Amino acid sequence: MIRPRLRPLLGVLVAAAIVGTAASAIALSTAPGPSTSTVGGSFVQPTASAAPSVSATGQERRPAATVPGATRAGTRPPVVDHGPRSGNRVALTFDADMTDGMLQNLRTGRVKSYANLRILDLLEREQVPATFFLTGKWVERYPDLTRRIADNPRFELANHTYGHAAYTGNCYDLPRVPPKGMTGDAAKTFEVIEPYGGRQTRYFRFPGLCHDAAALAALAPLGVTVVDGDVVSGDPFATAWEPIVRAVLDHVRPGSVVIMHVTEANARMTDEALPRILAGLRERGLVPAALSEVLAAG
Ligand SMILES: [Zn+2]
Repeated sequence: MIRPRLRPLLGVLVAAAIVGTAASAIALSTAPGPSTSTVGGSFVQPTASAAPSVSATGQERRPAATVPGATRAGTRPPVVDHGPRSGNRVALTFDADMTDGMLQNLRTGRVKSYANLRILDLLEREQVPATFFLTGKWVERYPDLTRRIADNPRFELANHTYGHAAYTGNCYDLPRVPPKGMTGDAAKTFEVIEPYGGRQTRYFRFPGLCHDAAALAALAPLGVTVVDGDVVSGDPFATAWEPIVRAVLDHVRPGSVVIMHVTEANARMTDEALPRILAGLRERGLVPAALSEVLAAG
């Protein structure tokens, strides 16, 4: 469910239907379902079931590694807006949207790129941790860049649906995933992303942050954590970097999850804003960290 107050501000962003607004101060905790974000300092990172399984040889074995964001399959996923407010870490998250319309723009040459290399260059050069919410179609269009992201030990990979279609009705004019297809859409995206390895997670972000009880129930079999965010940079279709920087720095706090985009043509000022955002974070004593570390801190 999207906050009603955000909706009018966001209605204009229909071209690629990437969410962005300067109204980032609005609490996102009104989303349905349990929100772990209110736990504050005692935030406990949901983990996969530690129940031992029995191998073919009869030997007990435990999961090789806990994947960040993994929750017990079959339970409704928690919805997280931010981590504990203690400490000094913040998560920079970058959504990589890709719709059929965007693919068409690339094919016809109308748009050159939906991958902002300057963002990757900067994060790599400055050794800044970040988390990328990837659509399956973006990964399929940019396999080399996905590899580059996966190969960086400071970057985490997360799920932003297969083709950036909405999981609810009435979500910024986005086409809708049929209710029966939602589980498969999210599962397919994990299947596209996982072969790249690196720091895989079970974090999931809905297009437009639109979710309701049915959408959350559809994700239950997958054992994921839904991540919204508490600082919306408003970078899609921004025509200047100043409002992006202001939107972030005016609202960022310890534990914040900042939503930005790595989609170049649809968010072409983000790379201009990013160095200023990083400088502003430094001035405030805030340190970017991978999403899993921000949520687990405290
Ligand atoms: Zn998106």
